[in-house]
This record gives sequence, C-alpha cells and structure tokens, in this order.
Amino acid sequence: MTARHRAAEVHGRAIVIDGHNDLPWRLRIEFESSFDRFDLAARHADGHTDIPRLREGGVAAQVFAAFVPSDYAGRGAARVALEQIDLVKRLVARYPDFELARSAADVRRIAEGGKIAALIAVEGGHTIENSLAVLRAFAELGARYLTLTHLSNTDWADSATDEPRHGGLTEFGRAVVREMNRTGLLVDISHVSAATMADALEVSEAPVIASHSGALAVNDHARNVPDEILRRVAENGGLVMVNFFPGFIVPEAAETVRDLLRVERELRAKHGDDDAVLEKAARAWWAEHPIPRGNVGHVVDHIDHIVQVAGVDHVGLGSDFDGVPQVPEGLEDVSKFPAITGELVARGYSEAEINKILGGNFLRVLARAEDVARRLGA
Ligand SMILES: [Zn+2]
Repeated sequence: MTARHRAAEVHGRAIVIDGHNDLPWRLRIEFESSFDRFDLAARHADGHTDIPRLREGGVAAQVFAAFVPSDYAGRGAARVALEQIDLVKRLVARYPDFELARSAADVRRIAEGGKIAALIAVEGGHTIENSLAVLRAFAELGARYLTLTHLSNTDWADSATDEPRHGGLTEFGRAVVREMNRTGLLVDISHVSAATMADALEVSEAPVIASHSGALAVNDHARNVPDEILRRVAENGGLVMVNFFPGFIVPEAAETVRDLLRVERELRAKHGDDDAVLEKAARAWWAEHPIPRGNVGHVVDHIDHIVQVAGVDHVGLGSDFDGVPQVPEGLEDVSKFPAITGELVARGYSEAEINKILGGNFLRVLARAEDVARRLGA
C-alpha cells in the first residue's frame, strides 16, 4: 500500500473535527446571512467552506464560530452573536447533511450516522456584555465554547493583541470561567494574553482549549501559546487546536501580522463601521502586505512542537477557515484536511496518535467538561 493510500484509509476511519470555522461571519457580511444567496449544498470556487468540500475533506464535526469583532463591545455585541447562533441553527434546519451537536456523545452518534455534526461557539467575551445571564443563555442555546477575548481586551480579560490592562483575568473574569465550568462551556484561550491563559488555567476545573492557535516557539506571534502554557494545558487535560493561518504558523510571517489590532483600528478610523466595507479594506491591506503562504508542513511543525512539549493528547485542529485572508499551499479549503493526515503519516505518527489529533482529543475534552458541569450542578 502506498503512503498516500494508507493516509486516505487512516483519515477515512478517523472522526475528523475542526475546532474553528468563521463561515457564519462570511455569510453575514457577504451574503446577508442568506442561504438563498450562498447555497452551501453547491460547490463553490470561492470561500473555504461548503457541504461538498466538507464531505471531500472527511469532516465529521465542524465547530462554527459566532464571531463578533471587538469593536461591537458596548454596541450590540450579544445581538450580533445571537444572530450568528441563529444562522447556524438555520443552516442545520435547512441542510439535512448537518445535525446540531451539544455533546461528545452527539458528535459520535451523528458521525456514525453519516451526517456532519455542527457545533456552535461564541468568539469574543465582549458578547456576554458583562452578564453571566447572557453567558448562560449562550450555553442553553447550544454554544460549546466561548473565546474569552478577540483582538481587544474585554472589561474582564486581556487580549494577546492589546495593551495589558488587567494583568490577566479580573475577579469577574474568574467568575466567568467558573460559570463556564458549571454550564459546560469550554474556556477558549485563543486570542488572549499569556497572563489571561495562566489565570484561566488556574481557575478552570474543566479542561481548557485554544480553539485556533499555534505554538509561540515556532511562530513568535503573541496570539500563539508559549511553552510554559503548553505544559500547563497538558496538566489541565486541555487541548491546543492548531490554526492554519500563514500569519500565525509560518515563522517569517510573524512580523507582518504582529500589529493586527492597530491595523483593524486604522481601517475602522478610515472606513467607518460597515463590516462589508471593512472586509474589502482589510483585503486590500493584505494585498499590500503579502506574507509567505507556507504549506501543510508548517501546520504540522506546530503539531510536532505541541506534541513534544505537551504530548499527543493535547493537540488538535482549528483551521480558522473563512476567517483568514490567506491559507497555506495544499490547505486551500475544508476539502484539504486529508493533507494533514498525509503529513502526519509521513512523519511517522501511528494511527492511534493521528486519531487523537484529528478529533479524539477534542471529544475527550468535551466529555470531561460535561462531567465537570454535572458535578458542579448546572
Ligand atoms: Zn479568531
């Protein structure tokens, strides 16, 4: 059997789970959140995600982010998150290829039945509008993780890409983490500062995830996870799901993408608050600031590093498809997940290890968070 065949077989037997996809935001700003305007059942030449390509990629479960830019803090952030949760629910209602998953058992059952499990996440802690009641409502609607910040600090947590204001989590931020444990929402430390990561790990009784982050030692961007945090994620039983964005994975690209928040603020100052206009302006900015694309090997370099520092039980995939302006060669869209498996096979990973990386670790973490929530009494 050729290596390619073996990789295809291993991939076909695995439960492949991607931890972060921004399709809802793309549909919102480019297609008025309308499936009549962007039919997911058709194969598209643009964008990164549709049903035919998810099928080709062997994706068993896709986490869809209800992403809300930091700038919505104090002006309807919860509403924007709710509208995108609604969009994921409409997606599941419209397309029989999908079923909504709220638990690890749901994911296994749905995958076994040949459908794609859709999971909801909320990206950006400002969406709870400083209210634990809103957080609980997100959990009740089926959200499975909350990313504590986006590019800016929230009132209770520092972001990796903003000036430190709280030195990590405030007292309320700690209460948010405890409430997430109680309601079974995973604590997502992607986008947050290292101090916030450390505080979240100190407070959380459930495993913590980074839903779409790389290793800082491989690419020196503050958005990535430092080695000392990787070791603590391992002790905590958690998981770092590796982002595919070249800016965060290719070492030579780190410098160009260092000031993402400053760039976002400048674009807003210049173009106002219309998200579609901003998206166009951002695309123009990226066109003027080219970064090396990298390839599947760069993504697996991050996986290798996390395996070395934290262990193979603590790494997964969080592509960030449809949320990034550039993707690596060979990882153009959701149909290309088998390329990751091919590279893992080529680097000597066993099938058992590959199963963990592709999705097994995420299922373990999800199930453990459900146990913690039951114990704490949701
Ligand atoms: Zn993100």
